[in-house]
Parts: sequence; C-alpha cells; structure tokens
Amino acid sequence: MCKTHENETLSDDCIFCKIIKGDIPSDKVYEDRYCIAFRDINPQMPVHIVVTPKIHIESVLGFKEDQAEILGRLQLAIAEIARRLGLDGSGFRVVNNCGKDAKQSVPHIHYHILAGGEMGERIV
Ligand code: 5GP
Ligand code: ZN
Repeated sequence: MCKTHENETLSDDCIFCKIIKGDIPSDKVYEDRYCIAFRDINPQMPVHIVVTPKIHIESVLGFKEDQAEILGRLQLAIAEIARRLGLDGSGFRVVNNCGKDAKQSVPHIHYHILAGGEMGERIV
C-alpha cells in the first residue's frame, strides 16, 4: 500500500484499486466520493455489477470504527444503482464473498448486484 486517492489508501497490486485509479478500464455505472461500481467482466446474471469502496480494505473484517460511514455509503450506492438501472421494480440480489470458503477472488471488499432474471429461492 502506498498511494493515496482522495485521501484514501489504495494498493499498487490490487486489480480493483487499479480500476479505481483508472489504470485499468471498466464499464462504470456509478461513482461518487466513496465508491465506484462497474459491470463484472464475467457476468453470472444478465445484470452483474461490482460495487466497491475507494479504499483498499480486504474484506468486511477489515473495517475500522471510523470507517463506518463507508459501509452506509455502499448501501446508498447500491440503492442508487438499482434505481438507475431500473432494478428497483423487479428486484435484485446483493452478495458479498468473504474469504476462502466463500471463494472471494479479489481481496478488496466489494458487493455483487445480481439481477435481470429470477434467481433460485436458495442463496447457494
Ligand atoms: P469475488 O470472487 O472476489 O467475490 O468477485 C470478484 C469479481 O470481480 C468476479 O466476479 C470477477 O469476474 C470480477 N473481476 C475480476 N477482475 C475484473 C476486472 O478486471 N474487471 C471487472 N470488470 N471485473 C473483474
Ligand atoms: Zn484494492
């Protein structure tokens, strides 16, 4: 970790930090001071959005007390993205994979918004 972006710390060897910095292109659907959201490169539903904070935190386990606002901002961003993409009527699923068993593959906390068709009644 060594570079700052809008007062938050980003990692030099993290794919999502590179997307946040604009070093790797992405199909961005939303951005504010705290978060960015883009279409997943390997979509698992017709609509598959990744929402992630503009700070390199590996998972929900890494949040500090004084970063609680970011968690609220992520939820607000998810709702705003849902409205912008017209998912608020039909619905959507929000998934966060944390750690090994959940098969988290990018160690920069993010939420998946999945939509565009009916999903199973079971989450997994
Ligand atoms: P995880 O498995 O960590 O919960 O989710 C990581 C997600 O990031 C995966 O769904 C994967 O397809 C997506 N992803 C990985 N690298 C990139 C990338 O460079 N661009 C985009 N748009 N998505 C990526
Ligand atoms: Zn990162």
